Order: sequence, then structure tokens, then C-alpha cells
Amino acid sequence: MTISLTVSAEVIDRVGLQEAAEFQARVTTFECVECGTAGDVRTGRAVVVLRASPGLSHLGVAHHRCADSQVREYEQGDLALAASTDLIPRAIALPGVQGIRPALLLAYEEQITITADGVPYDVTNLLVAEGLHRLPSLGKVPPASPGWSIHLGPHGDLRVNSPDRPFLTAGEVLAPPAWRALVEPVGKVALFVGSLRRDVLYAEHPPLAAYGRAMKTGSLVAGTVAILLPQARGLG
Ligand SMILES: [Zn+2]
Repeated sequence: MTISLTVSAEVIDRVGLQEAAEFQARVTTFECVECGTAGDVRTGRAVVVLRASPGLSHLGVAHHRCADSQVREYEQGDLALAASTDLIPRAIALPGVQGIRPALLLAYEEQITITADGVPYDVTNLLVAEGLHRLPSLGKVPPASPGWSIHLGPHGDLRVNSPDRPFLTAGEVLAPPAWRALVEPVGKVALFVGSLRRDVLYAEHPPLAAYGRAMKTGSLVAGTVAILLPQARGLG
């Protein structure tokens, strides 16, 4: 297998040789940071682009034809994680001992982000601080996460809020009728949030085994969250 992913000395100077080598080793498919279309390092040449700001930096990949491997500087705050635009939502059903359970997955494409002091930035640490939980497997029912809420609108549109901020706003995802039928009797959902490899994130059918591995490695965290239904009473 030929893999051609070029990392310039300029990028290595900033992230360190080990981080650069690990990134190089794990990237296969990517979304080009320059043109936005898909690429694959196994079938074409690609380059690593570090977008750096005083607070946070992102390692990304571009087609060789689109850019050189380089560091691009941004102003403070320009690279903040954009939850509402980068999160891919998915309404799923999990098999369990007591039957099928409804779950909602909100995931980012896996990427490396490095803070100003050279420490990799861990989104899941933030999510745990906001009340979600690390769990060893997908089969465990997650503990409750008070303060998080999921609103199901009359047309199946979903909104998700953490105690601190809106996570998913109306119109980004419509829950399918079969999922709504699972949710309505139980009034709660297992919510999974974190980062996934691109092929897992966009898989045609939800790859539950891959989600389970992401739970085990800590890149997905979870919580049981009450769902507010369109006709629910006593929402005061
Ligand atoms: Zn490109």
C-alpha cells in the first residue's frame, strides 16, 4: 500500500515529530481543508496543513494539488470548535437485554488539535466537565446527565442543549418515525457525543462495533438525557 502524506519541517517544528508521525500513520481518507472535497492518501498525494491560532491549532489534510504542507496562522479565537457546524447527528437504536433502546449520536470527525502549550486538546474532557460520562462499552446504560436536554419538535426535529450551550439547533436533524416511536414511551435517550473516524462517522449503516471501540478508547462519552416531547405535560 502506497501512502503519500507529506509533512513539512515547518509543521513538524510546531507539533513535534511524534505527533506528526502519529497523525501521518492514522490518516487515510480526509476532507481537504482547502477545497472541501474528499481525498484518500492511499490513492493520491496529500499534504498536512497546520492551522494555528494562539489558543488552539488543528492538523488537517489537503490534496497535494490544493496546497503545500505548511503552517497557517489565525487570530485568537478564529479556530474555536464550531459545535453546530461540525457535529454530525445520527438517531440510532441499540439492542439491549430489555429490548431496543433509542440513542442519539453527535460526533465530530476525528482530528488532532493542539493547544498553545503543545498539549493535545481533548474534546471529551470538556464534555465530561459538562456532565457526560466515560463508559467502557456501548452496552452499558449511561448514568443520567442532569442539565442536558433533548427537545423533540412536532415534526421530528431535534434540539440538544448542554448545561452550558446549545449543541444541536432545530432543523439540523429530523428523527425518523421509528425512532420517535421508541423514544415516546420511555421519555429518555442515551446520548453519545465525541469524535469518530471519518469512515465510521459517515458509514451507511450505524457501525455499532466501531462505536463501542470509540467508547472503550474514550473518544465517545455518554449520558442518559430526558427528552421533551411535543405533547408532554408538566414541562414548566
Ligand atoms: Zn483539495
